[in-house]
Amino acid sequence: MLQQTRVDTVKPYFERFMARFPTPLALAEAPEDQVLAAWSGLGYYRRARMLHAGARVVAERAAMPCDREGLLELPGVGRYTAGAIASIAFEEPVGLVDGNVARVFARLFALEDDMRGPGMKRAEALAEELVPRERPGDWNQALMELGATVCTPRSPACDRCPVASSCRARAEGRVDRLPVIGEKAKPKPQHVQALVARTADGRVLLARRRTSGLFAGLWEPPAVDGDASARDGLLGRFALASRALAGRVTHVLSHRRLTVDVHAGVLSGWAAGTELPGAYETARLFADEELAELGISTLARKVLAAARLDAGPLFAAASSTPEPEPEPRAKPEPRAKPEPRAKPEPRAKPEPRAKPEPRGSAAKSTPKAPRRSR
Ligand code: SF4
Repeated sequence: MLQQTRVDTVKPYFERFMARFPTPLALAEAPEDQVLAAWSGLGYYRRARMLHAGARVVAERAAMPCDREGLLELPGVGRYTAGAIASIAFEEPVGLVDGNVARVFARLFALEDDMRGPGMKRAEALAEELVPRERPGDWNQALMELGATVCTPRSPACDRCPVASSCRARAEGRVDRLPVIGEKAKPKPQHVQALVARTADGRVLLARRRTSGLFAGLWEPPAVDGDASARDGLLGRFALASRALAGRVTHVLSHRRLTVDVHAGVLSGWAAGTELPGAYETARLFADEELAELGISTLARKVLAAARLDAGPLFAAASSTPEPEPEPRAKPEPRAKPEPRAKPEPRAKPEPRAKPEPRGSAAKSTPKAPRRSR
């Protein structure tokens, strides 16, 4: 949930989600629509589907994997997540690298490689070499916290950094030039035509996306990519007593900048067998009060609100509360972990670590690891 989303924004979503699905079994047994509905507004819906799929695997096995290797077998669990769970929850001595740790390593060891490519591999190798056998979870959390609160992207607080005396970037005056992060591709413009169609009794027609691709599994007003001919093709599929261009909506995703022409129409009839655009597997009519139980993206809410057809409180709220979907960042991180982590529960004050030397053959090419001061 914290993917490029502020902790304060996530909190109420997290609490509602956990109240509704308090155990892996509860999540595994829930229909996907309910899971997506609980996730609605958070963006990154693939994560919700993967979490759901992961819960089903855990429920089938009646066991939660407790090491990195086993965690990596779960749908949607990558190297960072597996490393975090294994080291923090199960004390397995494995390293991890998120955007914060990558930045710390890039500066401490003056890594010159692009953090979108070889630089990240180098940082991951360092993470494995440096992680201690004792309290690896604390070590990993300390590194993430150092990056989030001290070694920040801009204006790092080197004067209060506990590893400043070992930092190559600082010694060489290159703090502001590291890490090296290659240019991210700009979002491509994409023109979309959407139809918000209602029946005379006020029900709205929504279509559900297929289970792969953009907005997979979510409900939305039917839409197609393209300009005038795409619009004519879309509107021509439905029996409309009247229609009009209601407005235009823009929405930025990580790789696309969508401009959506919103058409509002009144259905003179609706047949379940109507041929839908290829992105959809099914469609049906909904009363407004049913919409809260559906997985609906913020873009779809914006489109519904733009049609101004008695959009209801759900959409009124959506139009004033932007979904934290992936906006392009001014200075992207190599991985999405931009927010400071929630402050961990207080623990006993850790003993000072022995000087962390890189282990194994890589030690020759690895600069001396930092000493930590108290
Ligand atoms: S000395 Fe500055 S640049 Fe180096 S690790 Fe600390 S905060 Fe980051």
